[in-house]
Amino acid sequence: MADETTLPTPDVSPTPETETYWEAAAEGRLLVTECTDCGRVYHPPRARCPDCLSEDTEWVETRGEGEVYAHSVTRQTGPPYDDATPYVVAYVELAEGPRLLTNIVTDDPGALSVGQPVEVCFHETDDGEHAVPRFEPV
Ligand SMILES: [Zn+2]
Repeated sequence: MADETTLPTPDVSPTPETETYWEAAAEGRLLVTECTDCGRVYHPPRARCPDCLSEDTEWVETRGEGEVYAHSVTRQTGPPYDDATPYVVAYVELAEGPRLLTNIVTDDPGALSVGQPVEVCFHETDDGEHAVPRFEPV
């Protein structure tokens, strides 16, 4: 696991569609899905291609590298997030193409910018059974 953070992790409830994704995340690998019919690479994982609805898809392990596509800094909130402020919610565009809604882990959220390179890190969930991908500046 990467850096410590006070930002709570979301509840993770794998489904048959997402089980492989969460197993890889627990091992520190970020997967996306590729449609073998039309070539679309997408996230979040689902059994059918969002473009052509094909069920001929396969898992692709990413390099875990991307850039900030958009971001927002939350400076004031309520429980259970008040100890975590300021924190960053962002869309990260992976080198492989898909954009993920995620968090950027940084001590200096005001220094983030669109296009900034980031890399994935994983934070163990509170129950210790899963890990969620987040990103940190390179
Ligand atoms: Zn497709």
